[in-house]
Amino acid sequence: MNMKPISFNDLSGRVCVITGGAGVLGTEIVKGLASVGVKVAIADINKEVADKVAAEIAKEYNATIIGIEANVLDKESLKKAKAEINEKLGPIEILINGAGGNHPSATTKVEQMDESSIDKPEDTFYGLQMDGFDKVFALNFKGTLLPTMVFTTDMLKAKKGVVLNISSMNSYRPLTKIPAYSAAKASINNFTEWIAVHLAKVGIRVNAIAPGFFITNQNRFLVLDEKTGGFSPRGQKIVNNTPMGKFGEPKDLQGATLFLLSDVSSFVTGIVIPIDGGYSAFGGV
Ligand code: NAD
Repeated sequence: MNMKPISFNDLSGRVCVITGGAGVLGTEIVKGLASVGVKVAIADINKEVADKVAAEIAKEYNATIIGIEANVLDKESLKKAKAEINEKLGPIEILINGAGGNHPSATTKVEQMDESSIDKPEDTFYGLQMDGFDKVFALNFKGTLLPTMVFTTDMLKAKKGVVLNISSMNSYRPLTKIPAYSAAKASINNFTEWIAVHLAKVGIRVNAIAPGFFITNQNRFLVLDEKTGGFSPRGQKIVNNTPMGKFGEPKDLQGATLFLLSDVSSFVTGIVIPIDGGYSAFGGV
């Protein structure tokens, strides 16, 4: 009888690239990876921060973590990053598509239109700037598609590999004000299913996590009140709609991430796991 306890030990020594890995959530995910011995390349458009985060985590966990410059919207930049990762760490076995986010330029000022906003179209859907909209949509959708195209080719050769996409609560039910981000994250769930099916017979699994609400750079301006430092009415609404009654801590993402990356979940592909304190289960009453 095999009495070996289930563990994430299979991940030790594997090579992972995480895009946007220098961000708030990415940093905590990298720490989770480092804790089980994964070798990580933090591929971020901001090389300076990627290097800094990599050095800090490498020291803290005595792990192999490097910073790499990459723009998830530029295939040539991704190919260059891949060559550098292959040279420094070896073939890529795990990809986490972490780059993404919203931007004020793709955000409406009002949540819902009423009679008073009919005369102020600039505050509504009608005033959205298409360049802002396009940028947010591209960063979240194309910024997942292109790295998947470039960084999974070693996995094809090995006939084994795993991809993790980062979705959002907005993918199930769009939040007011952020139509580009919501639509793009819905497209991530759809793409996760599509590519999981496409790659299922060549040994590559693709799943996603859908984080609930965490206070980070991209949403700070929406959920905190600049003057008081407390929650904005929107931030309070989120807490009220999260059955656990709080925002998440970025480290809450580590467990589900390791589960989906490890062989422990070797028969799991094409799913999205919400990590949300119950938000997606709650009907609001
Ligand atoms: P963040 O803004 O802290 O980090 C994003 C990182 O991506 C940054 O390091 C940035 O330099 C990098 N980046 C931006 N554009 C890039 C590009 N073109 N190429 C390469 N790197 C680029 O964001 P975060 O809050 O850590 O979010 C990480 C992921 O989680 C995103 O996909 C986000 O949409 C998603 N998410 C966040 C929350 C939340 O509450 N913060 C909730 C659900 C989902």
